[in-house]
Amino acid sequence: MQQTSQRTLAVLGATGSIGTQALDIVRRCPDRFRATCLTAQFSSEALFALAREFRPRVAALRAEPKVIPDDLRDIEWFFGPDATVRALLASGAQDALCAIVGIAGLDAVWAALDVCERVLLANKEALVTGGDLVTQKAAARNVPLLPVDSEHSAIFQCLQARQGNPVRRLILTASGGALRDWDRARIYHATVRDVLAHPTWNMGGKITVDCASMVNKGLEVIEAHHLFAMPADRIDVVIHPQSIVHSMVEFEDGAVLAQLGNPDMRGPIGYAMGWPERVPYGAKPLDFAALGHLDFAAPDPDRFPCLGMAVAALKEGGSAPVILNGANEAAVAAFLQEQIPFGRIPELIGRALDAVPRTDIRAIADVYDADRAAREVVRAAL
Ligand code: NAD
Ligand code: MG
Repeated sequence: MQQTSQRTLAVLGATGSIGTQALDIVRRCPDRFRATCLTAQFSSEALFALAREFRPRVAALRAEPKVIPDDLRDIEWFFGPDATVRALLASGAQDALCAIVGIAGLDAVWAALDVCERVLLANKEALVTGGDLVTQKAAARNVPLLPVDSEHSAIFQCLQARQGNPVRRLILTASGGALRDWDRARIYHATVRDVLAHPTWNMGGKITVDCASMVNKGLEVIEAHHLFAMPADRIDVVIHPQSIVHSMVEFEDGAVLAQLGNPDMRGPIGYAMGWPERVPYGAKPLDFAALGHLDFAAPDPDRFPCLGMAVAALKEGGSAPVILNGANEAAVAAFLQEQIPFGRIPELIGRALDAVPRTDIRAIADVYDADRAAREVVRAAL
């Protein structure tokens, strides 16, 4: 397979964990990718450094900095709450890597589906909340929604071998997070430092907290449901502490295909960037003899109730996943600011799910309404 031309890429959330790893692939493969749009929220110095290296056509910061350095004035700059979307539209980039964290990235995903040839989706919360609206828009515009989340990339890769055959089950692997072996009482009082010490992946703060509570795996079940049109009861989760098997697909004859690799997000990011071609970015080869064994276990619903709450919200449908997500985002922010103990995260999600009346999600405005209502319940409870 021959790469015919260089693809232009908008990196939305360029200063984050996913964004910087995507840019590392651009750095290593300059003949294949050019980053023409870089955006961030507050971190102007980090974005300036990236802009200096990658020379995008446009760039955006949500928070306007005092000055734009002289050597970056030839770039077209956008500032303010809708700067990401305006920059994306001005960039004309073929592909958008949506790597903003939280529902804050939904507008960017929505806009990318209007103007881009392909949408590379890291921002799982946009799919958890935007759900059918996002997948229907992608289908209507015939825009591939390429998963960046490692589990979904693994499933997507396994599905390339499907050849029209029905899938019986998707099996998502989960590292179990930083508190995997902790007892219930200790989990309740886990500190920010405990929670941010993820055993296998190095990621942004919010998703690392989500891994520790296992709400991340619940969000990923919802994400898998939307990406692969799979009902909730045919998506299983298994704990796999080594994070080597990134996820699996089971077919009707019982055959299970898995995708394996060292835990390095540049694998799934690069697969989405180059799809259908693979991008040799310098990955460390798997050493099976050194690994010795791979372990698997069932998740524990008593110690990690958030996973089951997310699956229940998916089964319920409507605004339930939006409420779960909004409450979780508000609770995680409060935990990271040390306003609440870790153990209150599931409690606050449950409280929002109990309190917020359900609505149908017919338009993006309905998503934001449900999100706001959930955050309000959490805020009031703090
Ligand atoms: P991060 O916090 O490291 O980076 C987030 C980026 O988005 C930053 O560039 C930040 O400036 C920007 N941003 C944040 N809020 C914004 C806002 N309101 N407006 C505009 N820009 C904003 O996050 P991350 O770990 O890179 O995660 C990004 C997304 O990818 C999340 O949805 C996460 O769940 C998903 N994801 C991440 C990983 C990982 O390894 N980090 C793995 C799988 C999925
Ligand atoms: Mg994941």
